[in-house]
Amino acid sequence: MENLPNTPLLREMTLNNERARRVAEVTLTPPTKTRIITISNQKGGVGKTTSAVNLAAALARKGMGVLVIDLDPQGNASTALGVEHHNSVVGSYEVLVQGVPMIDAVKQSPEHHNLYCLPATINLAGAEIDMVSVTNRERVLLESLNQFLADFEHPIHFVFIDSPPSLGLLTVNALVAAGEVLVPIQCEYYALEGVTQLMANIERIKANLNPDLVVGGILLTMFDNRTNLSTDVAAEVRKYFPKQTLNATIPRSVRLSEAPSFGQTAISYDPKNSGSLAYQEAAIELAQRGVIK
Ligand code: ADP
Ligand code: MG
Repeated sequence: MENLPNTPLLREMTLNNERARRVAEVTLTPPTKTRIITISNQKGGVGKTTSAVNLAAALARKGMGVLVIDLDPQGNASTALGVEHHNSVVGSYEVLVQGVPMIDAVKQSPEHHNLYCLPATINLAGAEIDMVSVTNRERVLLESLNQFLADFEHPIHFVFIDSPPSLGLLTVNALVAAGEVLVPIQCEYYALEGVTQLMANIERIKANLNPDLVVGGILLTMFDNRTNLSTDVAAEVRKYFPKQTLNATIPRSVRLSEAPSFGQTAISYDPKNSGSLAYQEAAIELAQRGVIK
């Protein structure tokens, strides 16, 4: 080892091995009540789906029972969890529009025996229109999920709801069903502009439909420490949301973006990659700090 050159890559590998060792040492205590966390930001491409599946996989590996509800017609979360979502699969559309019990549509993810997924098919694209005539249409997901949690034979400690990039009825259902919202913010220009609007909408949901909802976390994504822009955006977000912003920051990482094409999360595809480690650290932080008020 002594003769090896001290290259940046080698330093990163050593550092990542050390981080992996620390992550592996952590034992998590399950929350007393299931934590239902909606990942929301009406901007597309900020890392909602990547965060949902990797946080979920990280917690499942730590022994937590985890359900991911895919509410995006693109079905990217289902893909990353290796769960089929062609249009004849019974998934979130059938649960929301046809009243199919969630327990009949939830599948185990091949990623981990503790990890389950309610898949989304392209049918979901029509759900906002098809739900117009459904009674109590903002609460369909909430009621279905509560029934599922009561009936399911395995304990579920965390539910992550991956929402589409809009503020329509699917997102409203996701925010009504949740106890917490986790907002991924991409460290890019205009990162905060959409967030102001999102916070206003969360306040509206709190006032009218779900008074207990809290902004349980803000996660900085696609951070590039070589650019001043990333550093500035991160500092700005921490200034506005000092309590909510997680210490763990997700770096830009090719591994995170290529894992879904193998039907895997980055956590199983390459667990010692800096992106996977960051998601594991964020998951531990989220679990250890509990629900923030
Ligand atoms: P959203 O669900 O908000 O639309 P995604 O999670 O799908 O966002 O991410 C958008 C794109 O960026 C995807 O192709 C994803 O693989 C990629 N991506 C997400 N997070 C990272 C990251 N930290 N580093 C590199 N690529 C990322
Ligand atoms: Mg998405």
